[in-house]
Amino acid sequence: MKNLTAICPGSFDPITNGHIDIIYRASKIFDEVVLLITNNSTKNYFFTVEERILMAKNASSHIKNVCVDYCDILLAEYVKKFDRCCLVKGLRAVTDYEYEFQHAITNKILNSELETIYINASNEYMYLSSSVVKQVAEFKGDISMFVDKQNLKIIEDKFKK
Ligand code: ADP
Repeated sequence: MKNLTAICPGSFDPITNGHIDIIYRASKIFDEVVLLITNNSTKNYFFTVEERILMAKNASSHIKNVCVDYCDILLAEYVKKFDRCCLVKGLRAVTDYEYEFQHAITNKILNSELETIYINASNEYMYLSSSVVKQVAEFKGDISMFVDKQNLKIIEDKFKK
């Protein structure tokens, strides 16, 4: 899509192969993709902002037109720095739908220009979430099929602390 930036927001706590699948597919459709680490004071993150940014950079380093950014203001405000952009979100099952639907409508009320576009999760990542990764890692299970190999040690070390 010409001169259109995809903003892919999320906690990425940590980023998984399911997230990267969506980012990669968005990168083939849009000129530029912003992998946006968000900070929401109502959420308790396991990884620090710095760790989430580092892992997002590692996992997306093979995709040319992706950059990682961080946002601790309203998304509806953040997007105003782009000429033309839309939000791109991954949708797993029906369970994601209600949450995403609420957010899309709220963002549209706050910023009437802001559209949200969904990309369906791939079959192989339909089950995968950051919570699954943390639950397996907590008990020293093998998470190598869920996350980028550059992030394995960061995640494993965090659970040793
Ligand atoms: P949030 O803070 O919105 O819960 P997440 O980091 O959990 O953020 O997810 C960010 C986005 O990635 C959301 O749109 C979510 O639906 C999507 N997503 C998460 N896991 C997957 C997956 N396995 N496949 C496709 N999309 C996913």
